[in-house]
Amino acid sequence: MPTPVSYSEIYDDEEYRDTLATVDKDGKRIWLYPKKPKGRFYNKRIIATIAFLAIFISGPFIKINGQPLLMMNIFERKFVIFGRLFLPQDFVIFGLGMIIFVLFITLFTVAFGRIWCGWLCPQTVFMEMIFRPIENWLEGDGRKQKKFDESEWNFDKIWRKTLKHVIFIAFSIFIAHITLAYLIGYEQVIQLITHSPSENWSGFVALVAFTGSFYFVFSKLREQVCVAICPYGRLQGVLVTRETMNIIYDDKRGEPRGKINKNTNEETLAAQGDCVDCKLCIQVCPTGIDIRNGVQLECVNCTACIDACDDVMDKVGKPRGLIRYASVDSVEKRVPYKFSTRSLAYSIVLTALIVVEAALIMGRSEVETTLMRVPGQLYQKTEKGTITNLYNAQLVNKTQEELELSLKLDDKNGVIRVVGDSQTVKVGPASKEEVVFFIEFPQEYIHQRKTNLDIHVMNGDKEMETIDTNFLGPNN
Ligand code: SF4
Ligand code: SF4
Repeated sequence: MPTPVSYSEIYDDEEYRDTLATVDKDGKRIWLYPKKPKGRFYNKRIIATIAFLAIFISGPFIKINGQPLLMMNIFERKFVIFGRLFLPQDFVIFGLGMIIFVLFITLFTVAFGRIWCGWLCPQTVFMEMIFRPIENWLEGDGRKQKKFDESEWNFDKIWRKTLKHVIFIAFSIFIAHITLAYLIGYEQVIQLITHSPSENWSGFVALVAFTGSFYFVFSKLREQVCVAICPYGRLQGVLVTRETMNIIYDDKRGEPRGKINKNTNEETLAAQGDCVDCKLCIQVCPTGIDIRNGVQLECVNCTACIDACDDVMDKVGKPRGLIRYASVDSVEKRVPYKFSTRSLAYSIVLTALIVVEAALIMGRSEVETTLMRVPGQLYQKTEKGTITNLYNAQLVNKTQEELELSLKLDDKNGVIRVVGDSQTVKVGPASKEEVVFFIEFPQEYIHQRKTNLDIHVMNGDKEMETIDTNFLGPNN
């Protein structure tokens, strides 16, 4: 018996509820041979892919103020976003960023469903727009490819399979290098390429691991990433509502489905819905599902079934859109999909969240100072009639340049005396320094036990940060 192409060839109509579309009754994987999509949505996806690839590939090379556009150096715990360097000390921004990110994903999905998965998720873009077309080019489309897989090994099959895997590995190597450039910077990746692996074993191992992972994902794992592994996919069940925009089959219009041919009479045609049961929507589906069963977890909103069905509708002279972007509510109530008040409210909240995070990032200071009074010390009276307090400060430089920092007291009656030879402190790029200093006031200016003070942290004439502290003195 030939291997089934999709689950609809082995399961009954209702069994989809209890089964995975890519697993047969013996628990074996059903290898999918989706038909190549074509149509207006596919053409738009090609444009989205070109835009995605342009940004993905150029990302590590774009510099803002000498910094990369985006770099996530988890090894050295340095992160650059839009040219601004973030260190572990920025945990408030990171913490808020993570909360905003989770909220963003939740609200975005409730309003727009899996639109991200179909259009811009790297897994879908690489799999469906690069690796799959290469496979189709060398081994044929859909059923032809299945026949090719089942055919005897011969010279033609060997060279086609070999070339396919060579190209897959080459692309995996390329993607691995770009991904690593996002982690450690492209300069380090170039160093890695131009030097022997023995000079940087960890970098070389990372490259091999990335390449192996990408090759495995795109040559073997494929849709399993979306239907069984991706946590975002798993969340769909709790995030999608009846008002969520999704790719939906209009069963009110399509059912009762029925095949038609040139002998189908008018009466039969009138009794049937618009779906001609051609199953092309299943054949093009990269996750192997039948969208006519309703919204399903496995659907990555790739739009392939919309294009396939629109093409069929054109051929049978019915209006397009039997499968379309819509909400469950709009299909059931037979009204056009409209952006619901809830979705609008979510979009407003989403915009506000982005503005908050952007304000946090833009308003973040380039120097962070942690100031503490030296433990066990209150105040000292000096022989010359002044009162001093001793402090300890940690200065963190969040820029990529060396800074020469000094401390300036807001209150002109007092002075700051740094312990050591210099009144300035040199702090290297993305590093920190400790400084111990006295604040000294003539006794006549101190009238209370605790006086509030502002200290300016200066880089030359430029104020980097203002910190407040208090000065202890006798209670006169
Ligand atoms: S059901 Fe349609 S939109 Fe969903 S994954 Fe399959 S082809 Fe893509
Ligand atoms: S492509 Fe359209 S007409 Fe054909 S089976 Fe799917 S929904 Fe029905």
